[in-house]
Amino acid sequence: MIATKAFATPAPDADLAPFQIERRNPGPHDVQIEILYCGVCHSDIHQARNEWGNSIYPMVPGHEIVGRVTAIGDHVKNFKVGELAGVGCIVDSCRTCSQCSAGEEQYCENGMTGTYNSIGKDGLPTYGGYSTQVVVDEKYTLHVSEKLDLKGVAPLLCAGITTYSPLRHWKVSKGQQVAIVGLGGLGHMGVKLAAAMGAEVTVLSTSDSKEADSKRLGATHFVNTKKEGSMDALKNRFDFILNTVSAPNSYDQFLPLLKTDGAMVLVGAPPEPSAITGFNLIMQRRTIAGSLIGGIRETQEMLDFCAEHNITSDVEIIPMSQINEAYDRIMKGDVKYRFVIDIASLKD
Ligand code: NAP
Ligand code: ZN
Ligand code: ZN
Repeated sequence: MIATKAFATPAPDADLAPFQIERRNPGPHDVQIEILYCGVCHSDIHQARNEWGNSIYPMVPGHEIVGRVTAIGDHVKNFKVGELAGVGCIVDSCRTCSQCSAGEEQYCENGMTGTYNSIGKDGLPTYGGYSTQVVVDEKYTLHVSEKLDLKGVAPLLCAGITTYSPLRHWKVSKGQQVAIVGLGGLGHMGVKLAAAMGAEVTVLSTSDSKEADSKRLGATHFVNTKKEGSMDALKNRFDFILNTVSAPNSYDQFLPLLKTDGAMVLVGAPPEPSAITGFNLIMQRRTIAGSLIGGIRETQEMLDFCAEHNITSDVEIIPMSQINEAYDRIMKGDVKYRFVIDIASLKD
């Protein structure tokens, strides 16, 4: 076993603190990765605080992992020692169901194994990227371009794929009107990716302070949703709305902004339910749907798309010791636009 330094939370109401874990020795199909950077997703906070009611403790969060391969198993075909590699939200799945066969492992009918807060096939809890190394089957390991700034690549492994996948699934294309609700870690990637796909992007935000950034990130319009009447002129405007908000929000506020046959897709995952008025769907045959991260093949496609279009996340680098403060700042909306942990700070 490989002794590995990590940061874990022991309980929903506790801070994260140093914790020692063990990684398995690489099996024949495994890749061992020295973690260099790990992004901090709002899902880390939901789960560390047991807001979704399914948390396993102690928990080592982190599913936006980039690093360098330090060892490979005998049968590994696609990775070499010394190469960059990435790990997102999925480290295993049944590999045989129809969803796995279709490359949609996130929807595995037998339940995918999450990078953390899951029980692996060995019966042990999985631990995430707030740690110095990870061992993952090459099937669930991604190739990372040397061309991009590695710090800004880490958040692509969750925020990037979670926004890319629905934009592709709902066929967002050149000239379409797209709104991104919430300009956080996911939202700012949604703006960059939708703009790169040729859409005209509007940011629907509760924070006036993000207007200038919205335009810099690639949006054409910015609307503060808290201002009375601010959305009146947007009725029937959008082909597609991506809702990334982490807290309960009024879906009825946004549905009337869709054109006939338009879709609002939820990726933000507040634990509490929100009411929907059927008429907002009925009147223009509108759709409301949800989307979970993306499969391994599509995650690689997204990473390649980002390398081609020179897209990375706007990040604020923190040492591991500042993680609790970072969680507090995310809850206040005070991050532009993703915290990324410099894992070197965990080795000292
Ligand atoms: P984040 O960085 O905290 O961004 C969330 C944004 O939502 C904030 O920046 C803010 O944007 C807006 N917001 C927050 N509280 C709000 C409130 N009370 N009312 C209205 N707007 C509010 O979080 P994130 O990492 O992007 O994650 C967003 C959500 O997606 C989380 O629930 C996370 O768990 C979920 N998620 C889902 C998937 C999936 O597969 N579906 C994957 C990853 C994450 P403005 O300041 O612009 O209003
Ligand atoms: Zn995430
Ligand atoms: Zn499966």
